[in-house]
Amino acid sequence: MPRVTLTFDNGPTPGVTERVLEELDRRGLKATFFVIGRKLRAPGAAAAMRQAQAAGHWIGNHTLTHSVPFGEQPTAEFAAEEIDDTEALIGDCARAERLFRPYGREGRVGPHLFSRAAVSHLLAKRYETVLWNAVPGDWRDPDGWLDVCLAQVAAQPWSVVVLHDIANGCLPRLSALLDRLTENGTEIVQEFPNEIILMRNGILTNLTDSLVSGGIEGLCSLPNSA
Ligand SMILES: [Zn+2]
Repeated sequence: MPRVTLTFDNGPTPGVTERVLEELDRRGLKATFFVIGRKLRAPGAAAAMRQAQAAGHWIGNHTLTHSVPFGEQPTAEFAAEEIDDTEALIGDCARAERLFRPYGREGRVGPHLFSRAAVSHLLAKRYETVLWNAVPGDWRDPDGWLDVCLAQVAAQPWSVVVLHDIANGCLPRLSALLDRLTENGTEIVQEFPNEIILMRNGILTNLTDSLVSGGIEGLCSLPNSA
C-alpha cells in the first residue's frame, strides 16, 4: 500500500489553517505545517500555529519572506535572516529537530534551492532540512489537483505531498482527498522518508550538487555530529 506524509506550506492563514486542522483532527491524522515567518506577524496567525502544535502536528520553518530562493541571493546575511528570524517567530512551537524546508518557487527542484551559505547555516544550526516529492498544484488548479495528487501517490511507495493552507489552496477539496486516501487504504504518517531528508543534526545526508548553487564540494558535516 502506498504511504503519504502530508505537509501544509505557506501559512499560517487565520480562517484557513484552523479548518485544515479540523479536517485532520477529526480523522486522527498528523501532518507538518511549514510556516512563513512574516505571516506569523499577522493577527491570529501565531495562534493558529500554536493550535496546530498543541494538536500534535509538527511546525517547520519555511523562510521569513518566501520571496527569493537562496541560490538566487547567496549571501550569508540573507540566509541567516530568512532562517533565524523565522525560527525566532516559531519560538517554542519548534521541534527539537528544527524542521526546515526551502522556498522552491512553485515547487521546482534545482540548484536555485540552496546557496552554499544557506547549507552551512543549516548544518551549523543542526536543522533537519526536508524536500518533497509530490506537488499536485492546489494553488493553480483548484479542482484538478485532487486527481493529480491521487495519481502521484499511486505512482511511488512514499509520497511527501505539498499542499497549502492559504486562501486559494487545498481546503475546498481536502476532505475529498482524505476520504479517497482512506478508502483506498493509503497509510498516512507524520514521519518523513529518509530520501527527502537532505541534512540532519549537522550531517549532510541526501543533499546533492544539483540542489546547491555552486555545488557542495567542501561543505562538510559538522565534526562532532552523531
Ligand atoms: Zn512555499
